[in-house]
Amino acid sequence: MSNIREHLCPDCNGAGENTVIACPGGRLMTLKCQFCEATGFITAERHSWRAAGQEHRRERLARDENMHECSKRIGVLASEVSRFERGLIDPQKWRPTPEDADK
Ligand SMILES: [Zn+2]
Repeated sequence: MSNIREHLCPDCNGAGENTVIACPGGRLMTLKCQFCEATGFITAERHSWRAAGQEHRRERLARDENMHECSKRIGVLASEVSRFERGLIDPQKWRPTPEDADK
């Protein structure tokens, strides 16, 4: 049931691709959207993962903490923090940190 692609992809707004600035050089490139695998839509499940990731990002920024500081504090790779915040990791499997771990 949660496999129905019913949410517009927040990364590409349903386009299935994203225009990015290529570094170096600053040219514009169009890349297939990785978040929705170029379909333009995501499942309700992925949508909720994304929301959890954004919540995490908001809280991290509110602590004035960058991704590296955060990854060190909770003991995971910075790339994992990044993937989680982009909605690529199931929040159920991502609970490395108690709420007050930074005290
Ligand atoms: Zn997309």
